[in-house]
Amino acid sequence: MARFGMVIDTKKCVGCMDCVVACKTENNVPEGFNRDWIVQEVIGKYPDLHMEIRSERCNHCDNPPCVSCCPTGASHVHDLGGVVLVNHKECISCKACLASCPYDARFIHPDGYADKCTLCIHRVEKGMNPACVDVCPTHCMYFGDLDDPNSEVSKLLKSRKHHTNIPAAGTKPQIFYLM
Ligand code: SF4
Ligand code: SF4
Repeated sequence: MARFGMVIDTKKCVGCMDCVVACKTENNVPEGFNRDWIVQEVIGKYPDLHMEIRSERCNHCDNPPCVSCCPTGASHVHDLGGVVLVNHKECISCKACLASCPYDARFIHPDGYADKCTLCIHRVEKGMNPACVDVCPTHCMYFGDLDDPNSEVSKLLKSRKHHTNIPAAGTKPQIFYLM
């Protein structure tokens, strides 16, 4: 079984937000909400400092607290690639998952269910990339099977230094940032 994830090259990201616009368009994300966003952070230790620009979203964690805390089973891990999804019909908007996510990746959709990045599973099922990956003008995002040693994402992680967000939370994020 595949384990889908993304590798994002922070050296190539220019913070143009095309990924944010593409996600909102592709997924009809309501005004005032976002499934992905840009973070700019100064990292390193003085005097070796630099600006890192990251396109962030749900990390589709391998150990997702949003799934284990959900009282109805609405939040679940999909058979296809371990993508973390929400079944809208089973969600009772209790917000337990919003509180459990260390990345603030979820919001309550105005239609009354927890919502977030789906890795564009409707596209992935057809063999396509998530919309954000395809629109990036600097090609800084890569999508693929982290369990396939021959995939581009696996090769990048083997050859480049990388990090995940808040690893201390123990959620095992599946979105990796090349440094
Ligand atoms: Fe759940 Fe948050 Fe991890 Fe996404 S980033 S799988 S919402 S804990
Ligand atoms: Fe589950 Fe919905 Fe509650 Fe989140 S808001 S924990 S998906 S029932």
